[in-house]
Amino acid sequence: MSEIPSWPSSAALPSATWDVVVIGAGLAGSLTALLASRAGARVLLVEKKALPRDKVCGGCLNTAALRVFERAGLLPGLAALGGPWLERYELFAGGPPLRIPLAGGVSVSRSRLDAWLVTQARQAAVHCLDQVQALVVDLPDPQSPTRVVELSRAGQPLEQLETRLVVVADGLAHASLQKQPGFVDRISPRSHVGLAARAALPSAATSPERGTIAMAVGAGGYVGLARDETGDVHLAAAVDPRCLRSAGGPAACVAAILGQAGHPLQGACAGLSWIGTGPLTHHLHPAAAHRLFVVGDALRYVEPFTGEGMAWALHGAERLAPLLLRALAGWRPGFIPEWNQPPRFGRGAWCRTLTTALRSHWLVRPVVAGLRHTPRLARYLAAAIDPPSDFSRERYEAAGRPADGHLLPVATRPVSSEEAV
Ligand SMILES: Cc1cc2nc3c(=O)[nH]c(=O)nc-3n(C[C@H](O)[C@H](O)[C@H](O)COP(=O)(O)OP(=O)(O)OC[C@H]3O[C@@H](n4cnc5c(N)ncnc54)[C@H](O)[C@@H]3O)c2cc1C
Repeated sequence: MSEIPSWPSSAALPSATWDVVVIGAGLAGSLTALLASRAGARVLLVEKKALPRDKVCGGCLNTAALRVFERAGLLPGLAALGGPWLERYELFAGGPPLRIPLAGGVSVSRSRLDAWLVTQARQAAVHCLDQVQALVVDLPDPQSPTRVVELSRAGQPLEQLETRLVVVADGLAHASLQKQPGFVDRISPRSHVGLAARAALPSAATSPERGTIAMAVGAGGYVGLARDETGDVHLAAAVDPRCLRSAGGPAACVAAILGQAGHPLQGACAGLSWIGTGPLTHHLHPAAAHRLFVVGDALRYVEPFTGEGMAWALHGAERLAPLLLRALAGWRPGFIPEWNQPPRFGRGAWCRTLTTALRSHWLVRPVVAGLRHTPRLARYLAAAIDPPSDFSRERYEAAGRPADGHLLPVATRPVSSEEAV
């Protein structure tokens, strides 16, 4: 089967009631759809963008995320995408960088990763539509056996679907819930906004080298940099919106942060195509309603220093799929409070502490200088944020190697951008 899905037109959709409509084909939505469909549910996955599409994301998967792919039987396909293994972290805050080892991980472009996962979902019998926006339009009625989702394309309504369950996996803005009462989104007043661009930088010797996550911290925020499976560098930044305005745009804002941090790619920002997000730090409550569940970034933003964001989305999908099957077997109102109590996730407290520290730029520089002279303390802090893992590079590379010992071929294709800024 071709790696790029050919999307059915909505006219081709079967008209009967769906078991599950999943809104958003990021990692949370596609994996939820795939797992529910494998278990026998009739699933429709709806994505508003044309796939493949870029995202504001550094594309760094940590070992917790790799384990989710492994448990889902998807590790060989992921490894065949050819993303380099991550082994180092470089922190630039002015002066020489602090270099610390990473527990491991993989860097892969979101355009390719997300399109591949949608293809896996299609192969698991999920019906997929892209360039179609979804909106939950009915008011929750505890007596109703279904919910209603309206589909539209380019602002034109296409049709209304009935579904026994809705999964909202539409990312930070969770726009599909805008007609739903009772949801409160707490957005931090100090929230940063996201920016990203991809740069084709031929010199592999320039930071970041293949296998390294570089982080540059400046007064206006921070910029993460990593090379993907093609060698391109992804720049993904979380910046103060006031600095973005005063700098006069994304390229100048990111260049200023890289310059303050002493990162060598400061001059590479001009001329790149930038995409952006609204406020990042938010927490939606409740996480569920009558026959509706929210998952991934739509629910809460997790600071992604070493891949926590995608791990959060994938873990959510893995937890939600069995709950959907129980809900399909017989809806009970108790499913709402059950999904409202997510387990403690990963290193959230450490990531929040680090985020707060990184916002005090004047503090980071002397701390980084101090850590350079106390490598044991630096390693201790690194291990607190990214704990050692027994998920080895050999395990990842062996998964991508077919029987004849060669890596599977990876096709290259054009990438469409979203939310150009
Ligand atoms: C600057 C920055 C850097 C980051 N770097 C990393 C990193 O290196 N590693 C990491 O693990 N995480 C990183 N993250 C976080 C990571 O990108 C997210 O946590 C992850 O993408 C969440 O996945 P998701 O599936 O919940 O949402 P998304 O990936 O946002 O997917 C949501 C999808 O829903 C679609 N959609 C939206 N509205 C609708 C609608 N109404 N109808 C249909 N479709 C809709 C969107 O087009 C999108 O495709 C970063 C985030 C930022 C801001």
